[in-house]
Amino acid sequence: MTIIDGKKVSAQVKEQVAEETKQLKAKGITPGLAVILVGDDPASRVYVNNKKKACELVGFNSVEYALPATTTQEELLSLVDELNNRKDINGILCQLPLPNGLDDAAVIEAISLLKDVDAFHKQNVGRIMLGDYDFLPCTPAGIMEMLHAYDISVDGKKCVVIGRSNIVGKPMAMLLLHENGTVTICHSHTKNLSEITREADILVAAIGKAKFVTADMVKDGAVVIDVGMNRDENNKLCGDVDFENVKDKCSFITPVPGGVGPMTIATLMKNTLKAAKLQNSIK
Ligand code: NAP
Repeated sequence: MTIIDGKKVSAQVKEQVAEETKQLKAKGITPGLAVILVGDDPASRVYVNNKKKACELVGFNSVEYALPATTTQEELLSLVDELNNRKDINGILCQLPLPNGLDDAAVIEAISLLKDVDAFHKQNVGRIMLGDYDFLPCTPAGIMEMLHAYDISVDGKKCVVIGRSNIVGKPMAMLLLHENGTVTICHSHTKNLSEITREADILVAAIGKAKFVTADMVKDGAVVIDVGMNRDENNKLCGDVDFENVKDKCSFITPVPGGVGPMTIATLMKNTLKAAKLQNSIK
């Protein structure tokens, strides 16, 4: 059994981004990422801080907009519009979910397609379906990069994704399909879930329920990817997979923390670098 080291792979990705950033800076271009946080959700605050730290590490400029939960839709859209027009900002992301009363979809759609480094805009989502895209959503793309780093081939494998969110589950299934996996998507209405997951050569859990995937749900030798970020009964960070009891059945497994999470941020850095290049017509 191998524990996939997301921290190590993400460090390699960020090193590569930092190297390319140096070359861009020599041409007078410094990639810039704007992160919008509305309200004071503590988990979102941690994610935003991690994104900021990663920007510093790779040499990007980052600007954070911490807005009160009372921000109106008009104010938010006007900020997005301003950032769309700023030359020094190449990527814009708005931390989701937004507080009640604000429309997530409208804000995402207001972001310029070329600055949509989360790849959540519906036109970018459509392009992912077609396999013709500039940006891939950070979590699924980070997972694919981790699989590649460990030489885990998807081709011809039975892949099961638990979760069908627009951010993780659906695009994850699509990326596995693009690499010739035979993909099944499960969700809260799926009947006989364990029977399906036990067939999986590659099992991706993106549910949001602590230790939901137990050993009896996993086939011997499976690759298990845990996207979940939950708190257990002792308020300790844990995934959707019961890691301690599942790990010995797996050929590969990702830990939480230190698995998918760091890869998500590394991919955001890659996307922002790409956005800076696209906006400056650099290949
Ligand atoms: P989400 O939007 O809440 O989606 C959860 C999915 O799980 C839904 O499709 C839901 O089915 C399904 N589900 C819930 N209970 C189920 C059950 N009993 N059996 C089968 N399926 C079930 O969550 P998300 O945004 O995809 O995030 C999932 C987890 O990943 C969360 O813990 C989140 O914090 C974490 N996350 C981590 C990263 C990272 O970088 N590590 C990034 C994003 C998210 P229905 O559609 O039928 O409701």
